[in-house]
Amino acid sequence: MNSRLSEISIQYGKGIGPKRGAALISSEINTIDDLLNYFPFDYLDRSRITKISDISQFVGKGIEVTVIGKIFRQEIKRTRNGRTFFLLTIQDETGFLTCMFFAGHQWYKKMFPIGKVVAASSYPEFDQFNRPIFVHPEFDRLSSFESVDDEDTTNWEELINTGSIVPKYHSSEKLRNVGLDSRGFRKIIHSALNKYSSNIVENLPEEICKKRNLINLRDSINQIHFPHSNESKLAAEKRLKYEELFYFQLMILMRKELRKKECNAVACVDGLNSHQKFILSLPFKLTDSQKKCISEILLDLKNKHPMNRLLQGDVGSGKTVVAICAAIYAIANNVQCAILVPTEILAEQHFQTLTKYLNQFKIKIELLIGKQKKKLRTQILNELISGDINIIVGTHALLEEEVKFNKLGLIIIDEQHRFGVAQRSILRTKSLIHPHVLVMTATPIPRTLAMTLYGDLDVSVLTELPAKRKKIITGIRSPDEKIKIYSFIKDEILKGRQIYIVYPLIEESEKIDLKAAITEYESLSKNIFKEFKVGLIHGRLSSQEKEIVMSKFKTGEIKILVTTTVIEVGIDVPNATVMLIEHAERFGLSQLHQLRGRVGRGTEQSYTILLADFKNIENQIRTSSKYNIPNLEINKAKKRLQTLVNSTDGFEISQIDLEIRGQGDYFGYRQSGMPLFKIANIIYDEELLLEAKHDAEEFILKNSKLDDPKLIEMKIHFEKNFRKLLPLGKVG
Ligand code: ADP
Ligand code: MG
Repeated sequence: MNSRLSEISIQYGKGIGPKRGAALISSEINTIDDLLNYFPFDYLDRSRITKISDISQFVGKGIEVTVIGKIFRQEIKRTRNGRTFFLLTIQDETGFLTCMFFAGHQWYKKMFPIGKVVAASSYPEFDQFNRPIFVHPEFDRLSSFESVDDEDTTNWEELINTGSIVPKYHSSEKLRNVGLDSRGFRKIIHSALNKYSSNIVENLPEEICKKRNLINLRDSINQIHFPHSNESKLAAEKRLKYEELFYFQLMILMRKELRKKECNAVACVDGLNSHQKFILSLPFKLTDSQKKCISEILLDLKNKHPMNRLLQGDVGSGKTVVAICAAIYAIANNVQCAILVPTEILAEQHFQTLTKYLNQFKIKIELLIGKQKKKLRTQILNELISGDINIIVGTHALLEEEVKFNKLGLIIIDEQHRFGVAQRSILRTKSLIHPHVLVMTATPIPRTLAMTLYGDLDVSVLTELPAKRKKIITGIRSPDEKIKIYSFIKDEILKGRQIYIVYPLIEESEKIDLKAAITEYESLSKNIFKEFKVGLIHGRLSSQEKEIVMSKFKTGEIKILVTTTVIEVGIDVPNATVMLIEHAERFGLSQLHQLRGRVGRGTEQSYTILLADFKNIENQIRTSSKYNIPNLEINKAKKRLQTLVNSTDGFEISQIDLEIRGQGDYFGYRQSGMPLFKIANIIYDEELLLEAKHDAEEFILKNSKLDDPKLIEMKIHFEKNFRKLLPLGKVG
């Protein structure tokens, strides 16, 4: 945020030194600037403290409560079967509370001596005498703990009692070992602010701060750590969130501008109607949405600026034919097309679909996946270089170094959400010309997320499903209803339909009590459905085995496909009408929506049955109860399944998914290309995001020459401070 502060090594901060310095550096806190930007994750203040005498009313409510008190007693107890556990008793003016630990006795004993003041947070439970207890609570040490070498004279305990807001910082074992728990951070950040806060320099344009009523950076940093009041904390938060979002939008826009200046893509101007023949050969009429998307894409392809477009459409909306039109058109202009997909099964399927539809054209299509025979592979690689292959469909195998193209002009990435950023860029570099890029995703994503993640892409949306589709009927069932379910499945098969049965695991494991595909396949094929042909597919089969099973399912020979989530995305067998998901509580919402999307692809009524044994799970939790948290997980699981019953709209479902999971979890890991905001939250800060986007657009317009010094300065600032945010590769 500030060029000077970002040059001062963390070791020179007051109270830090080499040992703490090293621990901080290994946590990516390298400079004073990083430290000042290590924001609290939460705050303690009087309004959020519960009296010990009031705790019992919160037991089992799934609410985390915090108490402040003195350590009154430490004891080690032994159970009848010889296990030991450690008890810490905390006292406040209303009573005593026991905290129970099953591990780490010695550490807790040393860290929490009698008489010291702590804040403890947990989901309270009852012990066998119906007294509330905390099990493995989170601790925040408040009074001065070390006698020597402890320069911190701030008495946080007193501060809380006088109504101050005390910041809480995340820590880790490594950091705690050098005294940097929440309290340790408070001390070093407090000192750093005292010493350096006058060096913090504003980095947002003045007119924007005025317009959006944002407080300055120096005050924000001070107030985010040690707020004087709730209002000042909110003002600081708003400003820091805005800053993050503004810079993010600015960089996305800059990249978009820069790309418009690139002009070395192949402008496809020949063979305008080449795809018409394909459309006429289809057994159905295109939806209006499909027509619109196709014309948007073709328009882009005519341009010598490379296309960068997202085709978004719910499961089953018919993205594949749109992609095929784009491919045919590009090929008519003498460039090659690569189609990247996340799974081998899907690659195989696309390869067959394309081969079937395109045999009327003189187009050579090949498949590239891992573990192909060396001879075949070498031949394919050679034909890609010579340009003999027009379309290559492949998995990650396409990204390998050896794979080179003659003239790669169009890249299509299916199920884009399964890939990381890096992979998109790798494909791009495989060609001397700048390829057009079409990414497709069936996982509809909330608007804010789309704006952040795909902000620099143009978007085409398939807003309708093909006509004559019936709404899939979804129900939640428990395993006691299995007999009924099986007879329903038999009826469907007798009507000529096909069935998926999905399990969370491939093989049974001693550790988790979950049904597994291989074991269940045995009993389903030999007993329950012995009169029908049952197939088994999972990720551990070889490509060839998978291909054989899949093609037997496609042709209808296999009636029931027992499977894991390998079939989650893309698979298209319109005759399948029942999707039975075992342990549905185990799956994420988007994943369930995708799985459900495997049925309802033809004209027949389709069904999704979500099996979940909530009674059993609740029992298990009750008997082995250590934490209340799993109750929360059960509630979330119930909400996921109910959402699926209530809605078939992917956009709505994804919005709820994001809300249930929270952005951190939704983003998963950095690899997925999701930006990780430090303080902004794209679920809750939509309004701020829109403002930042608007301002960034205006700003770019005013500084439209991208070499404007002001803009360059901002870019450098961004590179320094927000690099990690950018999901889509380097800026310009
Ligand atoms: P997704 O968008 O999930 O990738 P697909 O492209 O796999 O969907 O299409 C789903 C199914 O719908 C396929 O069987 C496809 O042939 C069929 N389909 C596509 N477009 C139409 C249409 N306009 N009318 C009827 N069926 C269609
Ligand atoms: Mg698809």
